[in-house]
Amino acid sequence: MTRPEALALPNLVTPNRPVVFDENACTGCNRCVQVCMNDILIPNPQKGGPPIVLYPDECYYGGVCVMECPHRDEGAIRLNWPLMQRMRWKRKETGEHYRVGMPDPPPPNTKPPVT
Ligand code: SF4
Repeated sequence: MTRPEALALPNLVTPNRPVVFDENACTGCNRCVQVCMNDILIPNPQKGGPPIVLYPDECYYGGVCVMECPHRDEGAIRLNWPLMQRMRWKRKETGEHYRVGMPDPPPPNTKPPVT
């Protein structure tokens, strides 16, 4: 029996999933792997496959992987923030909910703060 030269598996214990790839949009260029400052990603051993998130707990959601991806607009890679970090706010008058980073944000609130 031959053994692989290296065996690397993602951590299955944690429910954390900081980066989500779309296998149809990702070309496996590994630019995101190269720029990750915490080295949480490794190249997929299958050529053209999306990288593997090896150390999800080490991610601090800097977002350089997404910014560097040439196919981010097609959804090849996106950050998956934990619920505690998904800030949103609600406009009292209308009841509308907004999130940080939403693609079509509302106009800024020009009313002075309540004193
Ligand atoms: S997610 Fe983007 S940068 Fe990363 S391997 Fe896929 S295409 Fe390349």
